[in-house]
Amino acid sequence: MADVENYIKNLKEKITNRDPDQSEFQEAVFTVLDSLKPVLKKHPEYIKANILGLMVEPERVIQFRIPWQDDTGNFQVNRGFRVQFNSAIGPYKGGLRFHPSVNLSIIKFLGFEQILKNSLTGLPIGGGKGGSDFDPKGKSDSEIMRFCQSFMTELQKHIGPDLDVPAGDIGVGGREIGYLYGQYKRLNGSQNGILTGKGLQYGGSLARTEATGFGLIYYLDALIKDQNDTLKDKIVKISGAGNVAIYALQKAQENGAKVVTVSDSNGYVYDPNGIDLATVKQIKEVERGRIKEYAEKIKSAQYFEGSVWDQDIEYDIALPCATQNEIDEKEAQMIVKDGVKYVAEGANMPSDTGAIKVYKDNKVIYGPAKAANAGGVAVSALEMSQNSERLSWSFEDVDKQLQSIMKDIYEKTAAADKEYDLGKDFQAGANIAGFEKVAQAMLAQGL
Ligand code: GLU
Repeated sequence: MADVENYIKNLKEKITNRDPDQSEFQEAVFTVLDSLKPVLKKHPEYIKANILGLMVEPERVIQFRIPWQDDTGNFQVNRGFRVQFNSAIGPYKGGLRFHPSVNLSIIKFLGFEQILKNSLTGLPIGGGKGGSDFDPKGKSDSEIMRFCQSFMTELQKHIGPDLDVPAGDIGVGGREIGYLYGQYKRLNGSQNGILTGKGLQYGGSLARTEATGFGLIYYLDALIKDQNDTLKDKIVKISGAGNVAIYALQKAQENGAKVVTVSDSNGYVYDPNGIDLATVKQIKEVERGRIKEYAEKIKSAQYFEGSVWDQDIEYDIALPCATQNEIDEKEAQMIVKDGVKYVAEGANMPSDTGAIKVYKDNKVIYGPAKAANAGGVAVSALEMSQNSERLSWSFEDVDKQLQSIMKDIYEKTAAADKEYDLGKDFQAGANIAGFEKVAQAMLAQGL
C-alpha cells in the first residue's frame, strides 16, 4: 500500500505544480484518485503503466477566440474551449457549456468526470467537454445565433462523427444546438452525427431532452429499491429549473414522490402542495423567465431569495440539479439535520468535498453525478447510433434502453462497492467501475 500512497501523492503534487490555479479540476481528480487506491493495490500493473498519470492529462486541449457582433453593432470577444480528454473507449463525447464562469479548470474537471461517466454507460464513448465564458443571459436570439455561428466556425475544424461529438450543457439547449449545427452544415455539408441533442426534424433522438432528468430518477429508483425502500410518498427537494430539474421533477412525480422546490441562481420557490410541472415548463421553456414568477402564478407557493439548501424543512431526498459546488459543508449539515436519507446528483459535482464527507459521516446514501446523471450522455450515444443507421427509434424504445442503462449503472457501482468492501460508498464504487473499463482499454492499446 505504501507504493500506492506514494504514487497518488506524487501524482497529486505533479497536478498541483503543473496547473496550480485549476482548483475545480484538482477537486474532481483528487477525489477520484483517492477512491482508486484499493484498485491500484489489487492491480499493480496500472501503476507500472502509469495509467492514472496518462488519464489525468487531456489528449488534446483546444482554446480559441470567438469574435461576434452584438445588436448595437459592437464587436465582442469571448474565449472558447474544447478538451478532448480521453478516447480509449470511443470518440470524445461531452457537452458544451456557455456560462461566464467557464474557464479551463472547469472544462477540464467536467471533461475528466465525463471519461468515467461515459464509461459507466457501457456505450463506446470517450470523454470530452467544451464551452465558452459567453453569458447567454439577456442576449437576443440573433446575438445567440451569431455567437453560435462564430463558435462553430472554429470548433468545426476539430470535431467529427467518429472523432468528437459535442452536445449541450448549461447554457446550451435545443436552440443553441440548432444554430451550431446549421453553421457546421454550412461549412461541411450535412452530417448529422456531428452533434447530439439535435431537433427531432434533423436527426435528434426522442427522449434526449428528458434523458438526464428521467435517468436521474431511474438511477434513484434502483438505488432506493436496493435499500428496500420506495420513492412513493417521499418529500423531495430539487434545485435548478433547467432541463435536468424539469424532467427529474416530472419523473419523480410519476413515481409518487412529492417535489416541493425548484430554484434558479437568484432564489427558490417552495410549494408544500407539490410543484406544478406545467407551470415550471411554461415559465422556463416557453417564456424563458425567472423562477420567481412561479410564486406569482401559484398561490400555495412562496418565493425566497438565496439557496434552497439553506431552507429548513423536513424532507427525504435531495436532488441537486443546478451547478457545481452548490452544496458546501454547512449546507450538507443542514441537509442531514432536515432528515434527508438520499442525495442523488443531477448536476455535475454539485456537492463539494466537504459536503460529501458530511453525507458519508452521517450515513446519507449518496448517488454521485457521474452515475446519477449519466442518462443524458447515454441517450446522446443512442442518438449517435440512430444517426449512423439513419433511423429514428420510438420514444418507448429509447426510454426503455435508458431505464436499463441506469439500472445497470447502479448495479455496477453497487458491485464495485461490494467487491472492495466500501460500505455503501457509491461514489467510490462509480469511480472504480468507470475507471476499470478505461484502464483496461488503455492498457490493451499500449502507449
Ligand atoms: N452535458 C451532459 C453531461 O454532463 C451531456 C453530454 C452529452 O450528451 O454529450 O453529461
